[in-house]
Amino acid sequence: MSEPVPSLVRLLRAPEPTFSFEFFPPKDDEGEALLWRTIAELEPLGPSFVSVTYGAGGAGQSRTIRVTRRIAEETSLTPVGHLTVVGQSRGEIEDVLKQYAASGVRHVLALRGDPQGGPRAPWETHPDGMTHATELVELARDLGGFEIGVAAFPEGHPDCETLERDAEVLAAKHEAGASFAITQLFFRADDYFALVDRLRANGSDLPVVPGIMPVLNLNQVARMAELSGVAIPDPVLAELEPHRDDPAALRAAGIDLAVRLCRELLDGGAPGLHFYTLNRSKATREIFEQLRPRG
Ligand code: FAD
Repeated sequence: MSEPVPSLVRLLRAPEPTFSFEFFPPKDDEGEALLWRTIAELEPLGPSFVSVTYGAGGAGQSRTIRVTRRIAEETSLTPVGHLTVVGQSRGEIEDVLKQYAASGVRHVLALRGDPQGGPRAPWETHPDGMTHATELVELARDLGGFEIGVAAFPEGHPDCETLERDAEVLAAKHEAGASFAITQLFFRADDYFALVDRLRANGSDLPVVPGIMPVLNLNQVARMAELSGVAIPDPVLAELEPHRDDPAALRAAGIDLAVRLCRELLDGGAPGLHFYTLNRSKATREIFEQLRPRG
């Protein structure tokens, strides 16, 4: 008999901070080999959970399901399977939830997904599908047996009219059945704490785990930030820009910035840290090592 799957909600509400890692579904065999090496290198750190993003299109989605199932079946890690509603009927979405459940994946991150035309394109609901992540939260809740996470946006979702409305949407996801949230990448701890304050003002005590992306490559992170509608603040750029042409120095500065952000978040009461690993382990291990309490 396999071990019962631990409750993330209990871990996220415990005094000890959680540490978790995010992966994306690899595109080819080489990418898959790299991912499994990374997972093997990160597993000994004993993360509270790992999550796998939901790919776009049929092939990407089936890879997400396959990788997530393999993590559940072949490692000691607790996987969170992401799931989006974009481009799928309600029946297809329900089927993915059932596949997750059948392979022992009891945690899902319920998301809308970006429009098929790209993050800034207008949203189109599938004729038999869903419009908002809240509907997916309700579906997973009604199927039963899942702990459900959702996305949160320290700088507000790019399409949301106001930060207050954005916090109301997050509180509504909690009310619909979500029991934790993970944030979009961000660079200022104050943006995270302000989001949590707005959420609490809406009467929600949902644990919100900050998502951390260390800057190791300035162009790559600038592109990701732009796609996600996130600003890289001037003080952060001022620390990194001088190292633009020196990859080793840029990497060291990026890791130092991430460590300082993580410390500020934990000192201010964040329930844990979720690292966007980009399927590589080295930077995450270095940050983790620097944050570990010294015995
Ligand atoms: P929603 O909660 O549906 O919100 C989308 C927009 O609609 C927002 O502007 C919101 O304010 C508004 N809204 C929501 N509910 C209502 C309502 N009831 N009435 C009116 N307006 C409403 N994308 C992927 O494709 N795959 C992934 O694996 C993935 N993982 C992610 C993980 C994290 C931690 C985060 C932060 C994002 C992730 N994304 C992923 C990106 C995400 O899908 C996009 O940011 C998407 O645009 C919004 O998703 P959502 O779940 O917040 O949507």
